[in-house]
Amino acid sequence: MCGIVGYVGRRRLVPVVLEGLKRLEYRGYDSAGIVYLQDGALVKFRSEGKLQNLENILGEAIGASSNIGLGHTRWATHGAPTTENAHPHSDCTGDLVVVHNGIIENYHSLRNELLAKGHVFASETDTEVLAHLIEEYLEKDLQVAVTKALARVEGSYALGVLWTGMPDTLIAARNHSPLVLGVHDEEGGFMASDIPPLLPYTDQIIFLDDLELAVLKGDSHVVYSLVSGDKVEKEVKTISWNSAMAEKGGYKHFMLKEIYEQPQAIIDTVSGRINPETGSVELPEMNLSDADLAGIERIFLVACGTSWHAALVAKYWIERWAGIPVEVDIASEFRYRKLLIDKKVLTISISQSGDTADTLAGIRLASELGSKIVTICNVVGSTMTREAHGTVYTHAGPEIGVASTKAFTSQLAALFLFTLYLAEKRGKMEANKRLEMGRELINLAAVIDKMLPSLQEEIKKLIENYYDVRDFLFVGRGLNFPIALEGALKLKEISYIHAEGYASGELKHGPIALIDKDMPVLGLVPRDAVYQKSISNLEEIKARQGRLILIGTQGDEHLKCIADDVIYLP
Ligand code: GLU
Repeated sequence: MCGIVGYVGRRRLVPVVLEGLKRLEYRGYDSAGIVYLQDGALVKFRSEGKLQNLENILGEAIGASSNIGLGHTRWATHGAPTTENAHPHSDCTGDLVVVHNGIIENYHSLRNELLAKGHVFASETDTEVLAHLIEEYLEKDLQVAVTKALARVEGSYALGVLWTGMPDTLIAARNHSPLVLGVHDEEGGFMASDIPPLLPYTDQIIFLDDLELAVLKGDSHVVYSLVSGDKVEKEVKTISWNSAMAEKGGYKHFMLKEIYEQPQAIIDTVSGRINPETGSVELPEMNLSDADLAGIERIFLVACGTSWHAALVAKYWIERWAGIPVEVDIASEFRYRKLLIDKKVLTISISQSGDTADTLAGIRLASELGSKIVTICNVVGSTMTREAHGTVYTHAGPEIGVASTKAFTSQLAALFLFTLYLAEKRGKMEANKRLEMGRELINLAAVIDKMLPSLQEEIKKLIENYYDVRDFLFVGRGLNFPIALEGALKLKEISYIHAEGYASGELKHGPIALIDKDMPVLGLVPRDAVYQKSISNLEEIKARQGRLILIGTQGDEHLKCIADDVIYLP
């Protein structure tokens, strides 16, 4: 995962692209580059490592008067993350550049063919074949050349192309890698791998579909099918996110801001969907008839990363409250195994962006097998929402921090709503119970809002005792098992500390051998139905000199007897 930003319009190019790339940093990258057209020639800057390194070498170019160009953050797949391999890549003439996210699967044979024709390569990347292949077909029209070149390509791409021969035009194309366009009458045309870079300039978004190409100019945009070559009428969607949502707003970093935005994300996701008098849940955009709902015999939840953890939590809820068997699968596994799915199975995909490649591939397969598809998604109009039969939107707004926070919480809120909805439709839950649970869900936002500031202070102090360890275990039972997995993922992603999540009851089957004072354990032990069982597991850790941080229910004094540190939650 990595990013593309392209712009053509009246603004100076470099700041637009640089700021845009910063808003895509959450996607991860190992090198970066930028190119713009100035006085008929392409000017290119590339560097390894952080965007700051790129910014440092830009110097006066930051103020260049150019207003057309492309930027890229690379996550190396073919060739080391060096400056030479960083994008943009050029053709032999140096008059044409490409930036690319994805993988050209047949790059090897294409490269040999191009080498035989005399092309000279300057990098080890698969991407560079695109530049030379387009050069091979280039006569007068860049669009024609890119279309011909892409017809030869197997694999995935989000692509931005610029050529000195058409100095007012950017070409964008996509297949299995996300790319959106932003358009605005005065500001010009934008392309990016995700929406946040566009937010300061426009709320008018076009979602490119697979095998589509766009010709982008400052005052026009036309989309074509790469298959038929015909024009495609694309809907321009107005996104309700605004630029301020993509600013840090006084917080030290985006992730902290987004942690504090969780209550609002929950309110926005839940509001208007639960009737506070009856507890009835309304999810009209789910698009499933009562007959569809009555016919469901099994549910598959398909997702990746944090969304997969949300799915694991939802399994407990749906099975318990709606009485339907649930299978949860990692999308990259789901899509490659034998799927026993038919029309009695409801498949639910969970994805913040609605463009997660494996999840998208998974729901396409399930749909072919007759399953209805519902997607839980944060981006209105994204690919997944268009391909699914129905959608439950989370309303988290843009999430820019590397690790998912408010998107995860709002996914859980949406999944809980879905559970109540299903329980109601299938006659599995009394109105009273529904009402009580619905009210608690609505109330949750206020509870979180109240506790966050003091919690932050408390954790800051506590972490002094742990920040230098190299390994961590997170454990929980029941619902808190997937939460433990999510906690461990967060720690890995953000602190580069090795961490594993375990079901508490699994500790004795191996991992307990690792416990000593260098391997702290974070245990999730609310006063729930499995509380006593969890406590027994934690005692075993204590007996082996393990250091324990426990997160438990306010007022549970017993936790202090076994733990080094306790964090209480209401
Ligand atoms: N496969 C290309 C490379 O290794 C693009 C990687 C990316 O998506 O950034 O350069």
